[in-house]
Amino acid sequence: MNDSKFIAIALEEARLGFEEGGIPIGAVLVSSEGKILGRGRNQRVQEGVPILHGETSALANAGNLHHSLYKGATMYTTLSPCDMCTGACLLFGISRVVIAENKNFVGGEAYLKQRGVEVVVLDHAECTELMERFIRERPELWSDDVGGKPKK
Ligand SMILES: [Zn+2]
Repeated sequence: MNDSKFIAIALEEARLGFEEGGIPIGAVLVSSEGKILGRGRNQRVQEGVPILHGETSALANAGNLHHSLYKGATMYTTLSPCDMCTGACLLFGISRVVIAENKNFVGGEAYLKQRGVEVVVLDHAECTELMERFIRERPELWSDDVGGKPKK
């Protein structure tokens, strides 16, 4: 199944991020024809750029694409997308968001669905374990991140 193939690539990105001492969240943007348009990982620690999350890094690495390419595209991400990445997916008109797990964080899934985006949550064990390990080993880094901020 293609979803597990592309989520495995997002997980590869997340693992690279973990090895680099960063926040282990990876993402891959895939066209309607199954071509990888861009892939990336959270770069807040590595590059010191707080808006480079997994999804926004994948979008940045995809470069300037014709708007028609986003339609029908799928964003694969290892963790439920935050408000910024939810907004980016909506802004670019991405049709489908596949989320490896939402046990460690729940982002804008309801809003994506409300706006007509297909949302799939895979409940992916390895992605959940990697994020759990990160939160356990680097609580200061996670609590400093938007994802770890206390909710209202
Ligand atoms: Zn994000």
